[in-house]
Amino acid sequence: MSQTAETHEFQAEVSRLLEIVAHSLYSERKVFLRELISNASDACDKLRFLATQDEKLAEGGTDFAIELKADKDAGTLTIADNGIGMDRDDLISHLGTIARSGTAAFMKALDAAQRKDVGTIGQFGVGFYSAFMVADKVGVTTRKAGAAEAWHWESDGKSGYTVVPAARDARGTEIVLHLKDDAKEFLDDDTLEDIVKRYSDHIAIPIKLGERTLNRASAPWTRSKSDVTPEQHQEFYRHIAHAFDEPWVTMHWRAEGKIEYSALLYVPETRTSDLFHPDRKHGVKLYVRRVFVNEAPEGLLPRYLRFLRGVVDSEDLPLNVSREMLQNNPVLTLIRQGVTARVLSELEKKAKDAADYAKFWESFGEALKEGIFEDKDNGTRVLGLARFRSTLHPEGWVSLADYVSRMKPGQEAIHYIAGDDPKLVAKSPHLEGFVKRGVEVLLLSDPVDEFWIAQTDEFEGKKFKSVTRGGADLDKIAPEEKTDEPKAEETPSDAAALIALFRLALGEQVKDVRASQRLAESAVCLVADDSDIDIHLERMLRQHKQLGFSAKRILEINPAHKTIKALIDALTKAEGDTAVQARLGEAAKLLYDQARIVEGDKLEDPAAFAKRLSQALADGFI
Ligand code: ADP
Ligand code: MG
Repeated sequence: MSQTAETHEFQAEVSRLLEIVAHSLYSERKVFLRELISNASDACDKLRFLATQDEKLAEGGTDFAIELKADKDAGTLTIADNGIGMDRDDLISHLGTIARSGTAAFMKALDAAQRKDVGTIGQFGVGFYSAFMVADKVGVTTRKAGAAEAWHWESDGKSGYTVVPAARDARGTEIVLHLKDDAKEFLDDDTLEDIVKRYSDHIAIPIKLGERTLNRASAPWTRSKSDVTPEQHQEFYRHIAHAFDEPWVTMHWRAEGKIEYSALLYVPETRTSDLFHPDRKHGVKLYVRRVFVNEAPEGLLPRYLRFLRGVVDSEDLPLNVSREMLQNNPVLTLIRQGVTARVLSELEKKAKDAADYAKFWESFGEALKEGIFEDKDNGTRVLGLARFRSTLHPEGWVSLADYVSRMKPGQEAIHYIAGDDPKLVAKSPHLEGFVKRGVEVLLLSDPVDEFWIAQTDEFEGKKFKSVTRGGADLDKIAPEEKTDEPKAEETPSDAAALIALFRLALGEQVKDVRASQRLAESAVCLVADDSDIDIHLERMLRQHKQLGFSAKRILEINPAHKTIKALIDALTKAEGDTAVQARLGEAAKLLYDQARIVEGDKLEDPAAFAKRLSQALADGFI
């Protein structure tokens, strides 16, 4: 193996970040220590976890510690751990690129704000690279658990970095910071102690300076609730979630009885970037009697609560519990049930403050809605926690309980419309008759909506009904206000002749043609028969190639609309004139295509549509 150093350049993003870091505010710089200690603690947790699967990795013991050494003569501060360590490839990928989602999010926020102001860098914390706030050279000597060779990484935080084979007796990582001239205060014992107490007290591994242990080294979830301050929660949350926001809610409790466990869970304030990652992993670590055993084990939480971050510490599971053993483990099942119930009741409490709850809902509602159909035991409860846009509150959030309390006399169902685009959905002609009668309609535009709605029969005894499907059932509900044209409400009997003509002209293209109750301003719309699949659901399934056919639709016409009235008139006056009837047949086809366009559907024959439209314009202008 060659002993000459390999030289690497930083990924472009890292270089940018380093530039920001170099200019960060003086007062924020001390957070570098929090970041490096956090990494050291993570490295110990990782090793502890992997050692449960491969004992050899724990060679040298599992008495974990993080050691700080200040050398005033050399002007260096050293942070050493006996955690997992890194090999050559790890060094290049972990310390040469930005893999960390939190840091990537910071860069994005910076881009979005287009600002040079980095005053808040301490709040974000930019991980390992924050070392360059205080150091003009950083050396990392590390040996990975189970590996024979060690490596040395070094950089000035500007031009790039070098990697060279090195010597190190034991596994773990030692980071040497060559402090800048104006950062020598970080060689001072009291300063270091202050910083550790302020930012890293929650770290469960002892952080030592010489013989002194600086932190309490007791995990926050093992302490009593009143013993953990909001600031400590915030620090712990940021450490465990690799986040830079604040917890929206903190849940800290101890369960005793059939099973015993402690839980310290946080709901983040802002949406996590992995919410719709294919893995749908949650962010709750499993500990057994204070020992970390598993990162986000499946089965600890239902998937729809995957926005949670934190720790569950069980008294009952065996320490050497394997991934396989965790599957369908009865203790884990009981914990999951307990945690789920507790989280749901906390959300119910928080939902009482509508404005505050809206923040949560906008971040995580889409995931929570999966619980409506995934959680057989709590689906109804989750449904109660769900919030929706509606025709009455297109910008706000309504609960189903609100909706039901506002239902009109004679209204039997909870009406909804589903589509991809919330703006288009709100403008759909299907809503007109409902709006006119003051009947509220839920506007659903999340992909998950089609799933829960297809599997949910009712809420508080009220069925869900799509406004694009079946009869509108509006005749039992009186219009809100008296309209200026009372006649508009009646279906002229001669509409029947036009409907018959439309049926003939459209033939197999439609399932039926009928007069509409649901239209007020528009001339026509397409609806699905009660026994057929909802229009939006069908489109979604077709897009995902789950459905190879398309159900025929019913064309509804609005006899009160001036276009339809004019056609009825023309038909009456035609008295059997076949030329007029043929033109009315063309009109039927035009209106049918128009209804499809409004639906966002493709036309079967766009050229024919264009020809008809031109002809109609020409006829109209003669
Ligand atoms: P994050 O901790 O959020 O992943 P960082 O920038 O702080 O981001 O660290 C980047 C990566 O470098 C870590 O994810 C880890 O893989 C690696 N790393 C940093 N410090 C250590 C250490 N002391 N021991 C082992 N790996 C480390
Ligand atoms: Mg880190």
